[in-house]
Amino acid sequence: MDSSAVKFFNTLGRKLVPFEPLRQGAVGVYTCGPTVYNQAHIGNLRTFLFEDLLCRSLRFLGFAVTQIMNLTDVDDKTIRGAEEQGVALDVFTAPFITAFRADLQALNVVPAEVYPRATEHIAGMQAIIGRLLASGFAYESDGSVWFRIAADVEYGKLSGVKLDEARVGERVANDEYATEDVRDFVLWKGAKPGEPSWPSPWGPGRPGWHIECSAMSAAYLGETFDIHCGGVDNLFPHHENEIAQSESANGVPFVRYWLHSEHLIVDGQKMSKSLGNFYTLADLLARGVSPRALRYLLISVHYRQKLNFTFAGLDAAKSALTRLDDFVHRVRHMEGSSDRSGKLLVRVEALLAEFASALGDDLNISAALAALFEFVREVNSAIDRRELGADDREPVLAALRRVDEALGVIFMDWGEALGLDGSEGVGEAEILAAIAARKAARTARNFAESDRIRDELAARGVVLEDSAQGTRWKRR
Ligand SMILES: [Zn+2]
Repeated sequence: MDSSAVKFFNTLGRKLVPFEPLRQGAVGVYTCGPTVYNQAHIGNLRTFLFEDLLCRSLRFLGFAVTQIMNLTDVDDKTIRGAEEQGVALDVFTAPFITAFRADLQALNVVPAEVYPRATEHIAGMQAIIGRLLASGFAYESDGSVWFRIAADVEYGKLSGVKLDEARVGERVANDEYATEDVRDFVLWKGAKPGEPSWPSPWGPGRPGWHIECSAMSAAYLGETFDIHCGGVDNLFPHHENEIAQSESANGVPFVRYWLHSEHLIVDGQKMSKSLGNFYTLADLLARGVSPRALRYLLISVHYRQKLNFTFAGLDAAKSALTRLDDFVHRVRHMEGSSDRSGKLLVRVEALLAEFASALGDDLNISAALAALFEFVREVNSAIDRRELGADDREPVLAALRRVDEALGVIFMDWGEALGLDGSEGVGEAEILAAIAARKAARTARNFAESDRIRDELAARGVVLEDSAQGTRWKRR
């Protein structure tokens, strides 16, 4: 497919526009990462999977992608958490960083090139703040530095928020610090007693959250880059403030394309701990949900639509995957004489073209999956009619491997995805999930898949024993 036909819905301007990266064939993508003070919930994971689908799709379409995802390891929440546990900030955040990486691995997310940590980029943040002060876009007050919103005539261009209606992003902080204007947001927070702090020209303190992303994106992707994405909840004030800081400091456009994913709701309701419908990946694994089915479910709804998570939806995802697994098994065992008409190769080309044009149309995942399942249906019929044979296996499997570069659900490597790195506590729920997936495969008489899961576990030191009572496991 001609990659110049790729279109995205740009939040900046709110319309579908042709995608033209700064450098032909190469794309820089910045994705706001987690604040590492708790475990990601499935709403967060939806955003990270949207970003994974985006980067995978761009690669599928022929672009070289550099993805940067920051880790916010210093902010009010992480500092409060460390204080409550009475440990150093990095001791407090370390297990959440490990858990986040394990979640991404279990969900078969292609890792970003770099996961920079805010605490490693304090100097870059201070440099931007220094420039904003020098040019009158910021001011100092009692050891803190604030962005002067009134100085930025373009403020609000991403979110459409009007200055006089602007909600105050940091109300609590504003009550405690002296600002010129309640709408101004903090760039540098003067340290309170006992808080972790870094020396600065304005006294000891720490960065505000928004400046972290302005500094880390510039460090790896430059002052102007192609795509910035995140959940729609970060659109205002976080992304609006990133634009204000970066463009006021650098005098060049910050980001060319902004892509935002919609919220995830559960059973039609907002997810919340008080409603008892709040899930992390670990919660779902403990219920026997396969991360593979979760990945399928979370990527199968278009990113700009609200995603209604239900257990029925997970079952549907599982059935779709079983259909694909059965198909792969069937293709691997095609015997006899092969297609001499050349029709199969034409059909494979058509699949790849339809799949590419669907993804290039603002990640139209429904159309992409429809093209895949139509292909599965037609090839299954051809197998029924005995039109295909052993020599046709490889072209079909190659086509599936190709579409799976974008989807990451067909040939998902269970062993890797399980993240069985010896971290016992994390590993166990994942082993149980693998056992559940293997049981499902056996029920579906997909013995190739069931054997593959068992072998992957064995290769990583986990032995399964089947008995009349079910499957037991032990570490070798
Ligand atoms: Zn950010």
